[in-house]
Amino acid sequence: MRYDTQPTASHFINGAYVEDSAGAPIDVIYPATGAVIGRVYAATPAIIEQALTSAKAAQADWAARSGTERGRVLRRAADLIRARNEALSVLETYDTGKPIQETSVADATSGADALEYFGGLAGSLTGEHIQLGQDWAYTRREPLGLCVGIGAWNYPTQIACWKAAPALACGNALVFKPSETTPLCALKIAEILVEAGLPPGVFNVVNGAGAVGGALVADPRVDKVTLTGSVPTGRKVYAAAAEGIRHVTMELGGKSPLIIFDDADLENAVGGAILGNFYSSGQICSNGTRVFVQRGIKEVFLARLTERLKGVVMGDPQDPEVNFGPMVSAAQREIVQGYIAKGAAEGARLVCGGAPEDRPGFFLPPTVFADVTDDMAIAREEIFGPVMAVLDFDDEAEVLARANATEFGLSAGVFTRDISRAHRMIAGLEAGTCFINSYNDAPVEMPFGGAKQSGVGRENAKAAIAHYSQLKSVYVRMGDVEAPY
Ligand code: NAD
Repeated sequence: MRYDTQPTASHFINGAYVEDSAGAPIDVIYPATGAVIGRVYAATPAIIEQALTSAKAAQADWAARSGTERGRVLRRAADLIRARNEALSVLETYDTGKPIQETSVADATSGADALEYFGGLAGSLTGEHIQLGQDWAYTRREPLGLCVGIGAWNYPTQIACWKAAPALACGNALVFKPSETTPLCALKIAEILVEAGLPPGVFNVVNGAGAVGGALVADPRVDKVTLTGSVPTGRKVYAAAAEGIRHVTMELGGKSPLIIFDDADLENAVGGAILGNFYSSGQICSNGTRVFVQRGIKEVFLARLTERLKGVVMGDPQDPEVNFGPMVSAAQREIVQGYIAKGAAEGARLVCGGAPEDRPGFFLPPTVFADVTDDMAIAREEIFGPVMAVLDFDDEAEVLARANATEFGLSAGVFTRDISRAHRMIAGLEAGTCFINSYNDAPVEMPFGGAKQSGVGRENAKAAIAHYSQLKSVYVRMGDVEAPY
């Protein structure tokens, strides 16, 4: 073991690690071997109470600081994260099984970007002045108060930071619950934020499964809930938040279309399809898992894709040469294998992959199905694993209608050399985050989020500020009040 994966304690509350072993034990499993590498205990009601009380108590003082002062803390945390990128990436790889090749450039680094970006923005958050003749009005941009964040298991460090950075920049306090599958990384972010000068209680981490999330969401002190997870969970959390008319951000699942026209640069299109289906072993919400390929180039696309997939190096994700890791858990691999079986049973043509290799851990090779039709389960449902469905199409209007025929609307991509067609297609696609001649880029400067059932609200960019703050409008009369009696 290159790293001590047993956390100091299960939770981080009010600036310190806290343990309560009365909670249900949760084993931390290294997906590459199946070995237990740590244990945490789910938050008990006492732990949940402690976290919410600390956050509530700390929020007002934090909000009373100037934005520049808050931002300085976030930017210091970003620097600490960058300085410790190697250790944090190793931990992320243990937590998720994603290759160190990925985690060292896409996880802690992306978290640091968010803290740096929102740290920079914090000092310039303002309301506005509105002149109304002699009278005038102004708006104050105020924090929402106490936020609860709930994370998925695919990007534990990034999700913690993408929620913490705008929430804290706006002057909120946050209680974050990571996925029970990946409980390690967010604790490190909490440690670093406190080291960077964050007052105790402003950012807290409690571990546990859905019941802990449910208890947090239902607490009357909570002003905002931000979830990254599946649509079914989103539905439950949204409904629970609605009971208290709480603000929500929902970052949910998808079944996004990636449309490749016959005039596209083939190598780039294949590269986009690979990134949009197999990065992180396919465990990315925005993946373009319905790959629509214009009929004339289908076979050449499949041949080139198959050739390039020979470059997959599957193995120990801590090995820097490895570029393809295991699935996060045995349960997730089983779900994905179920879909592979369905694809074959429904008549799709298996082009490559399909069967797990005989090795420890939860590995499943990149799997490509061709001749997929819109009605097949592998074309309709989110699989969340390394399974690409290739569908044929003939013309623009047809593919646009088929691409939109889904309840999801997270992302969409178009590969073409025809710029007018590219923009026309994007305008017609029902998705929150789109790509032209690229796939899955997620810079902090660009809003990220879903349309339709893929979500509500936006993370990243200036757009996130609107989801972590509220406006207070103030009318100021300069003359006398004229009342009728
Ligand atoms: P999940 O929905 O099973 O769990 C997400 C989180 O919700 C976990 O922390 C879980 O403990 C918690 N939870 C479950 N039930 C709850 C309840 N009733 N109340 C409160 N919290 C509850 O999702 P997952 O399997 O961890 O992650 C995969 C899913 O996340 C996929 O659908 C994927 O598309 C989605 N995802 C979306 C984004 C995005 O930004 N749009 C990013 C990553 C993952």
